[in-house]
Amino acid sequence: MTVTADLPDGVKRTPMLEQYMHWKKKYPDCLLFFRMGDFYEMFFDDAKIAASVLDIVLTARDKDKAIPMAGVPYHSMEPYLARLIEAGYRVAICEQMSEPDGKTLVERDVIRVVTPGTWISESSGSEGRLAALAFFDSELAVALLSSTTGRFEAGAFPKDEGASLLFAFSPEEILYPRGQLRHFEAMPELSPLVSKLLERDREEFSPNAGTVWLCRRFDVSTLRSMGIEDASPPVAVAASALRYLEETQFTAARHVTELKPLFSNRNLILDEATIANLELVNGQTPGSPSLYSTLDRTRTAMGRRALKSWILHPSTEIETIERRQDCVEALVKDERARADLAENLSACADMERALGRLSLKMGGVRDLGAVRDTLKSWPDVARSVSGTPLESCFAGLESSQELFALRDKLDGALAAELPRHLRDGGAIRPGYDARLDEWRSQLADADAWICDYESRERERVGVRTLRVSVNRVFGYYIEMGKAAADKLTNLPADYVRRQTLVNAERFITPELKDFENTIFGAEDAIATREQELYDALLEGALTQSRALSALAEALATVDVLGSFAQSAVAGNYVRPRLARDDTLHFVGARHPVVERCLGTAPFTPNDLCLSPSQGRMIAVLTGPNMAGKSTYLRTAALLSLMAHMGAYVPAESAHVCLLDRIFTRIGARDELTRGQSTFMVEMVETANILRHLTERSLVVLDEVGRGTSTYDGMSIAWAVLEFLHGHPGRPRVLFATHYHELTELADRLPGVVNLSMAVEETERGVLFLHKVVAGRAGRSYGIEVARLAGVPQAVLSRSRELLATFEEQKERVLPENVPSKRAQQTVLFETNLDTEAIVEEIAQCDLDSMTPLAALETLYRLKKRAKRVERKGSAL
Ligand code: ATP
Repeated sequence: MTVTADLPDGVKRTPMLEQYMHWKKKYPDCLLFFRMGDFYEMFFDDAKIAASVLDIVLTARDKDKAIPMAGVPYHSMEPYLARLIEAGYRVAICEQMSEPDGKTLVERDVIRVVTPGTWISESSGSEGRLAALAFFDSELAVALLSSTTGRFEAGAFPKDEGASLLFAFSPEEILYPRGQLRHFEAMPELSPLVSKLLERDREEFSPNAGTVWLCRRFDVSTLRSMGIEDASPPVAVAASALRYLEETQFTAARHVTELKPLFSNRNLILDEATIANLELVNGQTPGSPSLYSTLDRTRTAMGRRALKSWILHPSTEIETIERRQDCVEALVKDERARADLAENLSACADMERALGRLSLKMGGVRDLGAVRDTLKSWPDVARSVSGTPLESCFAGLESSQELFALRDKLDGALAAELPRHLRDGGAIRPGYDARLDEWRSQLADADAWICDYESRERERVGVRTLRVSVNRVFGYYIEMGKAAADKLTNLPADYVRRQTLVNAERFITPELKDFENTIFGAEDAIATREQELYDALLEGALTQSRALSALAEALATVDVLGSFAQSAVAGNYVRPRLARDDTLHFVGARHPVVERCLGTAPFTPNDLCLSPSQGRMIAVLTGPNMAGKSTYLRTAALLSLMAHMGAYVPAESAHVCLLDRIFTRIGARDELTRGQSTFMVEMVETANILRHLTERSLVVLDEVGRGTSTYDGMSIAWAVLEFLHGHPGRPRVLFATHYHELTELADRLPGVVNLSMAVEETERGVLFLHKVVAGRAGRSYGIEVARLAGVPQAVLSRSRELLATFEEQKERVLPENVPSKRAQQTVLFETNLDTEAIVEEIAQCDLDSMTPLAALETLYRLKKRAKRVERKGSAL
């Protein structure tokens, strides 16, 4: 969005419009919220956009309607901002800097630019997740900055790892240097993030200038003290992110107290497809359950944020995982501590968000109240876990005298019930400030004084209907009806006429004027004093940013651990054993989300053992549709992931080797908006896996090659399995397929085992047992599933007939003994394919309508193809 260079033709120049254009030109990419009295007004195109996005009335500033205008009330702009930000707009807030005096133009200045990656909404919603990235040769440097929590990390990675980290962070805005869009576009896995990109000047990404700036910002002589190399790519992106946050918010983000190195090897890497396929934080459709919604038993917003982060960034450090497990175990065993913890956490407010908002000058008095409430509650939280390993989460904070002092200060100063805005008055507790109390008592006495004055004046003037009122324009006045005023022969000498209305006269007296001065003076003094006191309290809180952030993190951590313990007890989960070997072994594993959705219906537990060193590297799972293959695959992936989070898992026992990545390719989904068909998505995901897996990866493949013709698909699936089998890393692989032919691989390749879903054929049809057993499946039962789904009988009968024919043909086409060598396999499939194509072409020939020449040409072509097939066949 850009602004025209000047006012449109036909618009009369006024000082106010000139001022508007001045600011609009300075912020051409933003909608300009131009404060005018009680409203933020927008003009011209901005007004049209706002009217359509916000569904507000589009008016005009002038009678010729040359200046479209739309406005939102200044005291409730948050929801409007939220909608504009959600719609992808950025908003510059242009505030009135001087009081309107009716004569001169009010001074105005832009005081904040609201952007998706920097804005923290008042309640839930936007959290201000900002990322900056830049490509440096083969590396992708990534900085992640949470405006809410102040967490700030940066690192440089191989491109695909950087992309995964970016996805897991789920940024709301991404800064990148001008000229690098093509690098971004060359990585299809990043394409869902294109709408979040914001191009910035290249100079903002200078590693050297970034180092100087960050050192000054954090008051250190070298960034090495934070574990980051000076003048390195991570510094370049980090500086650009933090500078952008502070520049758009026009303030130092004081809750951002350090820059931490971002490591990809400390967390399991989950790419976008895996995050989506496993439905980690979002279900497949809005509102449907995810792993997050299933596990979430947290009591605070801080805990909920942390839980999401733990799910998306499971740890790969065995010490961290075991420390978390020890905490969960202690809570699982101690029902009382568990209940106490949950109860005490419920009293904590979202201090993390409040601190972020206060630091960035978005916050208000209720945010400060949230800090107070949490400071008051946390000692109880800490007490409820004392004597357990969770105690260590609060290490260092217990002795923080400053935090206790801050708590007492805020508690003594802030009213129990806080107004929404400081300007509404009443934020400071009575008794906290003597001067404030005095002015307030003057105000409190005002009503009594007016009552008394009114009755005195009624007596003195002799008009019983006389009353004293106040309004914003004229202040206090005495009002009497016109008839009564006209009848008065001796209006007191001190009565000065102030205003004549149709039916009434209004007067002022010196005594009333004195009172008015006192009252207005007290009101102004109260507002000023409350602001002063609030500012001092805020400053006191912000100087404790580091300790408050640490406390928020500790509370979030114990909340998540408590939530894990609750889930473990409620769902009968067990503590998995983490090991540095290559074995993944679950006994009685259940899918946490499906199990919970089934409610009282039983979930059939299953076992799984993958251990390349023990000759179980690839499991090929076959079985009918609807038998539970996908569920089994996902169970293995989810339980492995949960184990790395430090959570208990739904199983009888679990042995989980330390993984570096979980790769999944599951189900059919197309990305039409990204220009990718279902099969293309399938192949892109498969390619990504085959290129990036390592010896510590878990690979879960469901239905590779399903989205294309049978022989194409089967060939691809076969070749993928061979490739995985031959991979030097020897990763663990779970491979579900409907191509029963692939079960042959178990006979030919060591380390490949067959598993299948057990079914029972009854008189009334097939019964899915959902049980995984060793061996290959007999057949697919696809038509059975079609019958269960209600497909008409005629279609079912015809399908059975066709199936019989196809199976017979297949037996003729496929040689009985499939050779095991990869090259031969490919040739075999190609040969079959070619033979089929030749037969098909002959069948399609319409001999009656062919000219002799066309027939001859067809014959030559067929012969040529037949020779090729013959050559390939003899190569086998
Ligand atoms: P398709 O081949 O058609 O994709 P599938 O074999 O992958 O099917 P799933 O989608 O995993 O089958 O499972 C189908 C349904 O069966 C699930 O939605 C779930 O309700 C149920 N189910 C799967 N596994 C179990 C289990 N172990 N215990 C109980 N119910 C299960």
